[in-house]
Amino acid sequence: MAFLNLVLLVLIVYSIFKWIWRDDKSKQKKKPAPPGEQTVEEMKQDPVCGTYVPASLAVTATHKGITLYFCSNACRDKFLESH
Ligand SMILES: [Zn+2]
Repeated sequence: MAFLNLVLLVLIVYSIFKWIWRDDKSKQKKKPAPPGEQTVEEMKQDPVCGTYVPASLAVTATHKGITLYFCSNACRDKFLESH
């Protein structure tokens, strides 16, 4: 049973280490944004089809120094072809 005790000890030490490490990390940097703020994302309008897309999910292209947001690669390609 000595082996099982060793395994148990390793698991306990590991979980304590993990807990301490996680605790340290959360102390170091305070939450960058409250959870409520993350769900409210900036919506960008696709100039091709008019769909509103969340900025993080949009396909982007830079046109004349302006960043444009598209719902899909197809819309971006369509825009770039005609401009
Ligand atoms: Zn589109």
